[in-house]
Amino acid sequence: MDLILFGIQGSGKGTQGKFLRERYQTEYFETGGQLRKLAKEDSPLGKKIKHIIEAGHLVSDDVVMEIVANFINNIAEGKSVIFDGIPRSIGQAKALDELLAKRNRDFNAVILDLSTESAMTRLTTRRICENCKTAYPATYKENTCNECEGKLITRTDDNADSIRVRLQAYADETMPVITRYENTGKLIHVDGEKDIEEVSNELYEKLDPIFK
Ligand SMILES: [Zn+2]
Repeated sequence: MDLILFGIQGSGKGTQGKFLRERYQTEYFETGGQLRKLAKEDSPLGKKIKHIIEAGHLVSDDVVMEIVANFINNIAEGKSVIFDGIPRSIGQAKALDELLAKRNRDFNAVILDLSTESAMTRLTTRRICENCKTAYPATYKENTCNECEGKLITRTDDNADSIRVRLQAYADETMPVITRYENTGKLIHVDGEKDIEEVSNELYEKLDPIFK
């Protein structure tokens, strides 16, 4: 059983995804991480991605699906996958559904529900580890990462204007995808307004019966 994880930026989706990966011993596809890795590469695709990220825009469906197809083709037999950050448009959803169906992979989807106002507040006040990219909320007062001791910085694309662009893109493109999974009965709702531990507990309560 694969899992598609949805949540507006700032919902804690990445953090919860890592917990779920540990708990259920799954493979993990994280679009942001894959994109950042590629953006550092001195290749035409890498340069293209770097430019798009710096402009605060989303990467095109074709480029994302290129990366996903390669990942899915290399999954070990019998392993579940958590998809974090994909699909974020109807085009991607159709392409992903097709890829999964081809390999007889069934899936569920989860949404961490968080209001746009809460997302805006969390995103404009958070910091990111320069080294491993772990995000820290404003309530975290240290200046170094507790995973790798890296320096915490404000991300260059975390200014209010580019955040608004990203949140709007989520509303325009990803909300229809979420509705699509809601309509097919595949969507599980979790309250993302709560603190990290409470969100985890609700996730485990709802996903343990599926994974165990
Ligand atoms: Zn770090």
